[in-house]
Amino acid sequence: MGAAGSKLEKALGDQFPEGERYFGLENFGNTCYCNSVLQALYFCVPFRDQLLDYYANNKIVGDEDNLLACLADLFTQISSQKKKTGVIAPKRFVQRLKKQNELFRSYMHQDAHEFLNFLLNEIVDTLEKEAQAAKSEQETSSPAEKTANGPHKAHANGGPKEQLDTWVHKNFQGILTNETRCLRCETVTARDETFFDLSLDIEQNSSITSCLKNFSSTETLNAEDKFFCDKCCSLQEAQKRMKIKKPPQILVIHLKRFKYIEQLGRYKKLSYRVVFPLELKLSNTVEDADSEYSLFAVVVHVGSGPNHGHYVSLVKSHNHWLFFDDENVEMIDESAVQTFFGSAQEYSSNTDHGYILFYERLGNGHMS
Ligand SMILES: [Zn+2]
Repeated sequence: MGAAGSKLEKALGDQFPEGERYFGLENFGNTCYCNSVLQALYFCVPFRDQLLDYYANNKIVGDEDNLLACLADLFTQISSQKKKTGVIAPKRFVQRLKKQNELFRSYMHQDAHEFLNFLLNEIVDTLEKEAQAAKSEQETSSPAEKTANGPHKAHANGGPKEQLDTWVHKNFQGILTNETRCLRCETVTARDETFFDLSLDIEQNSSITSCLKNFSSTETLNAEDKFFCDKCCSLQEAQKRMKIKKPPQILVIHLKRFKYIEQLGRYKKLSYRVVFPLELKLSNTVEDADSEYSLFAVVVHVGSGPNHGHYVSLVKSHNHWLFFDDENVEMIDESAVQTFFGSAQEYSSNTDHGYILFYERLGNGHMS
């Protein structure tokens, strides 16, 4: 590992970014799904900064056992290393993850997207519980009542939970709006839903832009699938479309490469070529102004099937692209990113495909 570290340091030379750390993560037996996502999140600088702040402000004790604390501890460990490069074992984090969710306990191949989703929601849960606990601690005047009911209990059976805007929301949350137009009375009904990532259906020889266009294309609801119009008070034919109402700060795009094939009775990996640009314009928004994004991380699935294979990640840090493969970290050329678009032919020796894309919104003073 010393040799690999020095190789990366040599490659970067004088350009090694001040204060930055590039550490590989040890694999504990099929934990590459976790390592690849953790690297992408570590190089999501606004998210990393929030976690480091969280760690510093909460003075987490060694035995604090929730995933957020373990993640904050891991990121702090990486960022405070004396050496610039090397390998770290995310042992506590992985142990905690397996304890918390039996899905991730087996040695079978895991899904990186499922893990990312689980992790972000866990962090939100913990932050909400902590905020709630702090609040009820403030509100509880009598110390006797405080011990009897406890802040956690008060939360568990308390009234309707108000949505707290945590830093996970601030970074990742976007809002979709589902517009339905009744074809009889022309009334448009809009329903909003929030998201942390967009899961896109993919097609052969396509691009993220065309997948997003399909995502927002107009769908007609008819026959068995009519829409109940409140104004007509009956089922009516309608047109439906999904648009982005609030583009997130960090746009996470999940390509649906694992598809259930009915005839086979199992999942199949789609190795389709889907071009993802370094700079993305989001045009399926409610406001017509385009939102511009820059790609900063890609979680790559390596392998031909859904149940085996490997995950690695590509990360942009201070204008250099790095390749993270568990313990190993290498520099790669920006032009190498396109080798992860996928294959134009069904059978190809190249089985490394972009699976989760991380884009950062431009023009908000957030650039790393
Ligand atoms: Zn109507």
